[in-house]
Amino acid sequence: MSKTRGGLHTTKKVQQINVLGKTYQVVYRKLAPSKLTQKGRIPFGRTNSMTQTVLINSELCEEQRFDTLLHEVLHIMDEDMSLRLGERNVTRLGSGLAGFLIQHCDKLFRSKEKKH
Ligand SMILES: [Zn+2]
Repeated sequence: MSKTRGGLHTTKKVQQINVLGKTYQVVYRKLAPSKLTQKGRIPFGRTNSMTQTVLINSELCEEQRFDTLLHEVLHIMDEDMSLRLGERNVTRLGSGLAGFLIQHCDKLFRSKEKKH
């Protein structure tokens, strides 16, 4: 979905993901700095567990969006499974998994797609 609002062209794309049996709406849109982020930094993503919504900054490049989505999914798992990973470990695991999946996802799932 794409629309113009207040003279700014914004892209709003929505998809659903399932994390630990719960359906989350993933919304891609332009995110502004908030009080929740440090030093007025523009957030890459944000998760609201109460509404089961994951916001991803639509201005990020594709690989950074994927990294951010994994980061937010790890936050959900961290919270729901009481893993106590914390921000630093969530960031490290998210980036590590994103790099691995971006590099190898096609090879890992190609044989599965051919069966259909
Ligand atoms: Zn985080």
